[in-house]
Amino acid sequence: MKDFNIAVIPGDGIGKEVVSEAVRVLETAADLHGGLSFQFTEYPWNCDYYLEHGVMMPEDGLEQLQPHDAVFLGAVGDPNKVPDHISLWGLLINIRRSFEQVVNIRPAKHIKGVRSPLHDPKGFDFIVVRENSEGEYSESGGRIHQGDDEIAIQNAVFTKKGTRRAMDYAFKLAESRRHHVTSATKSNGIVHSMPFWDEVFKETAIDFPDIKTRKVHIDALSAFLVSQPETFDVIVASNLFGDILTDVGAAIMGSIGIAPSANINLNGKYPSMFEPVHGSAPDIVGKGIANPIGQIWTAKMMLDHFGENELGNHLLSSIENVLDSGIKTPDLGGKATTEEVTNAVINELKKL
Ligand code: ATP
Ligand code: MG
Repeated sequence: MKDFNIAVIPGDGIGKEVVSEAVRVLETAADLHGGLSFQFTEYPWNCDYYLEHGVMMPEDGLEQLQPHDAVFLGAVGDPNKVPDHISLWGLLINIRRSFEQVVNIRPAKHIKGVRSPLHDPKGFDFIVVRENSEGEYSESGGRIHQGDDEIAIQNAVFTKKGTRRAMDYAFKLAESRRHHVTSATKSNGIVHSMPFWDEVFKETAIDFPDIKTRKVHIDALSAFLVSQPETFDVIVASNLFGDILTDVGAAIMGSIGIAPSANINLNGKYPSMFEPVHGSAPDIVGKGIANPIGQIWTAKMMLDHFGENELGNHLLSSIENVLDSGIKTPDLGGKATTEEVTNAVINELKKL
C-alpha cells in the first residue's frame, strides 16, 4: 500500500469550493486503484485567518507543512479585505521560496468541448517548464541612478546549477512524453545570459541522446504557440520567458478555470506544491458555479508527481470525456454546477 500525506490549503474564495471537490475525486481514485491511500490534513490559512491573527499562517506553519508529501492548494487572495501583497507573499510566495520550489510546470492542452480562441487548435498538447528561482526576476545588484541622466539597471542572474536543474527536469519529463524539448532563448539579442542558457541546453541534451531538441527565440516561439502549437512537447524557459509562455498557453486552452500548475522541489528536502492557475474569483463565490476542472487537473499533476502516471492519465481522460459530453460550468458556456461536473468526472473515472 502506498500512502501519501497531503497538506490541503483550500485558501480563499472559490479555492474552498473546488479543493473539496478535487479531494473527493482523489479519494475515489485511491479506492479504484486499491494499492493507494491518501491522508489529507487541512490547514485553514487564508485571508480570514489573517484578519483574526494578523498573519497568513502560524509562525511554525512551514514546519507543519514540511513532513507532507505534497501541498495541495486552492487559491489565495481576498483583495477587498486584505491587500494582495500581504496574502500572496505571506502564504504562496513564502511556501514557494522556503520549500525551494525552483521549477514551475504548466501543461497546455486542447480539450475537446472547450472552445479555444485558435481557429484550428490541432490537438496541441505541451508543457512549459519554467525556471522559477532566478533569471530575469533576480533581485540582486540592480539599481536606479537618479540625476540628469536617470538610468535603471536590472541584473538577470543565471547560475549553472539553476539552469541545469530546470533543463534536466524538462528532459526527464520529455522521456515520459513525446521525446522532444524546445528551448526558449534569445541569444541573438541578449548577449550574455542567453548564450549561456544555450550552452547549458546543449550540454544537457548530450546526456539525453533519445530526446530531440529545438531552439527557438522567444519572439518566434510566442508566435508559434499561436500558429503551430501542436509542434511542441516540452518547452524549457527562463523565469520571464516561462511567465509569458504559460500565459499564452492558458489563453489558447480557452479558459482560466481549467488550467493546472505545479511548483516542484527538486532536491527532495521539501514538498512540492500543486495549485490551479486561477485565483479566488471573488465575483462568483458562493454561487456553486466555480469550475472545478483546474483543481481536478492539478490533482492529476500531483498523481503524476507521485509516480501514479497511469491513474493520472485516467483522470485526464475522465476530464476530457466530461467536457466533451457537454457537462460544463457557465465559464465554459455550460449550465452545470461545480458539484455536477465533479460527480460526472467521478462517474467517468469509475468507468475506466
Ligand atoms: P489572482 O489575482 O488570484 O491571480 P485574478 O483576480 O487575476 O486572480 P481570477 O480570480 O482567476 O483572477 O479570476 C479571473 C476571472 O476568471 C474572474 O471573472 C473569475 O470569475 C473567472 N474564473 C477564475 N477561475 C474560475 C473558475 N475556476 N471557474 C469559473 N470562473 C473562474
Ligand atoms: Mg487578483
